[in-house]
Amino acid sequence: MSDIIRLLPDSVANQIAAGEVIQRPASVVKELVENALDAGATDIVVHIKDAGKTLIQITDNGCGMSPSDARMAFERHATSKISSANDLFAIRTMGFRGEALASVAAIADVEMRTKRHEDETGTYLHINATRIITQEPAACSNGTTIQVKNLFFNVPARRKFLKTDATELKLIISEIQRVAIPNPEVAISLFHNGTSLYELPAGHPRKRIAGLFGKSINQALVPMETSTSILSVSGYAGLPKYARKTMGEQFFFVNRRYMRHPWFHKAVMQAYEKLLPQDAFPSYFIFLEIDPANIDINVHPTKTEIKFESETAIWQILNAAVRETLGKHNVVPSIDFDQEGSVDIPLPPRPGQTVTTPFIEFNPAYNPFSESHGQSAGSRSSGNVSQGQNLRHWESLYTGMENARPDTVSVDRNPERGIFTDPPLGYSGKKVLQLKQKYLILPVKSGMMLIDQKRAQERILFEKFMEIMASERVPTQQILFPHTFELNPLDAALLMEILPDVTALGFDIREFGKDTFIINGVPGVLASSSPADLVEKLLEEFKNSPLEAKSRVREQVATSLAKASALSYGVDLQPEEMDHLVDQLFACKSPNFAPDGKPVLTIVPIGDIEKMFGR
Ligand code: ADP
Ligand code: MG
Repeated sequence: MSDIIRLLPDSVANQIAAGEVIQRPASVVKELVENALDAGATDIVVHIKDAGKTLIQITDNGCGMSPSDARMAFERHATSKISSANDLFAIRTMGFRGEALASVAAIADVEMRTKRHEDETGTYLHINATRIITQEPAACSNGTTIQVKNLFFNVPARRKFLKTDATELKLIISEIQRVAIPNPEVAISLFHNGTSLYELPAGHPRKRIAGLFGKSINQALVPMETSTSILSVSGYAGLPKYARKTMGEQFFFVNRRYMRHPWFHKAVMQAYEKLLPQDAFPSYFIFLEIDPANIDINVHPTKTEIKFESETAIWQILNAAVRETLGKHNVVPSIDFDQEGSVDIPLPPRPGQTVTTPFIEFNPAYNPFSESHGQSAGSRSSGNVSQGQNLRHWESLYTGMENARPDTVSVDRNPERGIFTDPPLGYSGKKVLQLKQKYLILPVKSGMMLIDQKRAQERILFEKFMEIMASERVPTQQILFPHTFELNPLDAALLMEILPDVTALGFDIREFGKDTFIINGVPGVLASSSPADLVEKLLEEFKNSPLEAKSRVREQVATSLAKASALSYGVDLQPEEMDHLVDQLFACKSPNFAPDGKPVLTIVPIGDIEKMFGR
């Protein structure tokens, strides 16, 4: 029998490799923009058609390539960035594996024009699915333009996997943000189907952030800066009072490369503990500079996770740096300062390294007992304000709901009312207690019922919203003074995507310029005092809900709005309110479960209670 092992032809090997590096249009954008940055470009222009499915074109004014390099660049493992294994420990460039261009060329139709500044003429190269169609000298401007057309034309399975244009575009925008933030000295523009999404001039990091997320972010950010022997930290932390109901403006970069690090995220969030209103996320843009030898770079290039030596020490440095920044702005409650000792970190020394204790600055003038303390109390009270709003909002909720099911829900507070003549779970009425501002306790025939107050309200609202969506006449309450609000481009795209469903719920929201919306009306049942906040919360909930089939988007929007508008925990309820909540819950079709499937109530059986007393 003859040998059966063969080497795969290049075209097949490249296509397999491409599967790892290039998952979607956004991956192409990321790789090509990173290449442009590595080439020293100071101006990068990205043109996208149909969310990158038809065309991705990137033009840079970087170093360009010689005719032979232009050809070599598309070979697998062809890179100008490392030449020996040792170089791997000093990597500061974005790419180094020499995989990106080979991968892209395997699954698309690629044309490149490139010229080095010192050359008279440049090179035109056309490659289709790894096959070179043309290579010839050509007149080009300095730098490189790459056009990637019909991505995945020869991998139909991948093409089918792509999401809607809105989603793919969102991912592209997100990649652009990740490279644009840490490289503010490079001008970057992004156009989609000829429309400009970003035209960011070179400038100050802060201006760059404002260019990406809207001018209003400027006032929210305070600078931070800390230097230690193992790394330095700089960037911006958001003031708690500007924290938003939606995530998406939290960024870490290490040596100018975007990174995701849930554990370090916790270090930042812990520094904000007690400073934030409920469900609010502060923005942060934090840049870590660290000797590349202390990072495990042997991770896949498309992965955004990075492994560090001494993660615990970095955690504490980060946490201290954010506290210090907030302390300087007098927004840290005194209690946090009890933990100051925790920044005194004994670092695990690396061989041959002299260890210095990390140096953490803090505000020595800060005195928790002085007046400035008042400010921290102020920022905490803002949390209470929003609770107050919640309460009012809670009240207003009934106005719409009362009429919703006149046959099942009584607005009459008379204890004799007969809603529960046939109570579904033996509710005996009238004896509702609140526990920890979170649970309602009430006696039922079989024992003691515990109801989660937030989930109960989510269920009630959800059923109401589903009813509204199915009905012909959608009750909208017009707002006297319409609000305009600005979203970051990602959230704006998301809102556009679900706008028909949001409208079906009774919102009256229109696009009003780039990433700006005007809200003229809210669902009749939700007389919200701050409709823009409500929309932001709705988007946040929607983003956090699991991706569902298209047919269930409506339900998902209704669930998200129910979650966003339900009262939160930590709210004191009046006896009538609790009573009414219970009534409404048992008027629901499925009172036992919240719209996301979590239990709303449970019963501690009387038998178990008897046992506790040794009976
Ligand atoms: P890597 O970036 O990992 O080296 P790529 O496949 O992305 O691998 O690119 C291969 C090589 O092509 C790079 O090392 C670089 O020398 C060259 N190259 C790619 N894009 C550009 C560009 N925009 N300008 C100049 N050179 C480039
Ligand atoms: Mg590269």
